[in-house]
Amino acid sequence: MSDCIFCKIVAGEIPSRKVYEDGDLVAFHDVNPAAPVHFMIVPKEHIASLEECRARHEMLLGRILLLAPVLAKELGLNDGFKTVINTGKGGGQLVFHLHVHVLGGDKLAHV
Ligand code: AMP
Ligand code: ZN
Repeated sequence: MSDCIFCKIVAGEIPSRKVYEDGDLVAFHDVNPAAPVHFMIVPKEHIASLEECRARHEMLLGRILLLAPVLAKELGLNDGFKTVINTGKGGGQLVFHLHVHVLGGDKLAHV
């Protein structure tokens, strides 16, 4: 989507601090971190939110979740981490391109 900020990051049109990239996924640090380590994993395909996911996205969603602990460890989160998916306006979603936040390195509010 041409006006989507995460599509622009995927395309390299705006800068980001990338932590991972493969054919389907990109992970980069949140520009406004809510914890000492705070990055997000996004699919390269523009999917607006979890609500837009369909059965054909099953593998992609699984890959995102399996990548989270691998990257968390690489970034030093040996004591665990939190994952967050904000969905829709009611869920506090600000960027309508599916992303999974991964946060850690500090005491985080419970749920
Ligand atoms: P949400 O849609 O509520 O899950 O939040 C979107 C997140 O994207 C916020 O935590 C922002 O700080 C983050 N964000 C917005 N623009 C950028 C950007 N250009 N690079 C990295 N993170 C961003
Ligand atoms: Zn997008």
